[in-house]
Parts: sequence; C-alpha cells; structure tokens
Amino acid sequence: MPDTEKTPCPFEKRFPSQLLRDDAFYMSLAYNQAIDAWREDEVPVGAVIVAGGEVIGASHNRVEGTGDPTAHAEVLAITQAASRLGDWRLEGATVYVTKEPCPMCSGALVMSRVKRVCFAVADPKMGCLGGAANLNELPRSNHHFEVTAGGVLEPECRELIQAFFRIRRADPEA
Ligand SMILES: [Zn+2]
Repeated sequence: MPDTEKTPCPFEKRFPSQLLRDDAFYMSLAYNQAIDAWREDEVPVGAVIVAGGEVIGASHNRVEGTGDPTAHAEVLAITQAASRLGDWRLEGATVYVTKEPCPMCSGALVMSRVKRVCFAVADPKMGCLGGAANLNELPRSNHHFEVTAGGVLEPECRELIQAFFRIRRADPEA
C-alpha cells in the first residue's frame, strides 16, 4: 500500500441541509474537515469559525503534514478568520470544533475573543475548556466566551477519532 493509504478513512462526509443553519449544520462542516484530516493521515480533528452566518475560517489538524506542532485545526482556522476579517478580535464569532480544544488552542480562543465555542467530544486528558482544566475561567481575566460542550454530533465525532486510533494501533506500520 502507498504511504498515503496507510489508514484509509472508512467514513463519508456529511451533506447537511443548507436550510437549517444550526449548530449541527456547522458541526457537520467541522466533521468534514476532520475527514479531510484523516485522508491526509492526520489525527481527525476539524474546526469551523462562523460570524454573521458566514464561514470565515475552516481547517483541520495538519501537524504531520507541516511538521509544526502548532498546526491544530483551531489555530489554523483562527488565523484564517482573523485574516478574513482584517482584525485579530474575532468578537461575535462562534467556533465549532470536533474535539475539546487543547491548552494551546483554548488559550488561542481566549486571546482571539470569540463569542462562543461549541465542541463535540470532551477530552479529559488534554481538554482545557473543562475536561482537564478550564482556561475560560481564569479568575482575573475579563474575557470569557460561552461554551457548548458535547451534544452536537458528539457520537459521530467520537467514533471518527476512536476509529482512527483503533486502526492505527492495529497497524504497527502506521
Ligand atoms: Zn489544539
């Protein structure tokens, strides 16, 4: 098998109705980003940033491809969104991400002043929006965002990540 086919993705992208642009709709777009990550042999995590009903940032984990440990879905999407708005303050923006943000990404979300973060799968090991710690509750900070934790496409996003690691563990070459 060629290298790019090490862990073929057994999941398909979602095609949500465009009529109802709710949390599940935008999380589906983040899920599709996560599928793209898997297809590039990256840990399947995707993020989408929405402001005024418009997607202003969408990316997925690219750590392996870029060789950059900071190339997480959320950071890449934040950079896109800030560039698109011409402003580092993402006030009013909602971030959809398939897994609870890590310490770096939670910090980046705090610094970018987003309005709300909606994540699908909690991460008790590295999640920093309540899973392992909570950077959104720094006692002296006056910027806090709303958090929607779990409940939006959670089983689908969880299955994607768990299947990725399950297949990797089963293949010593991966
Ligand atoms: Zn991260």
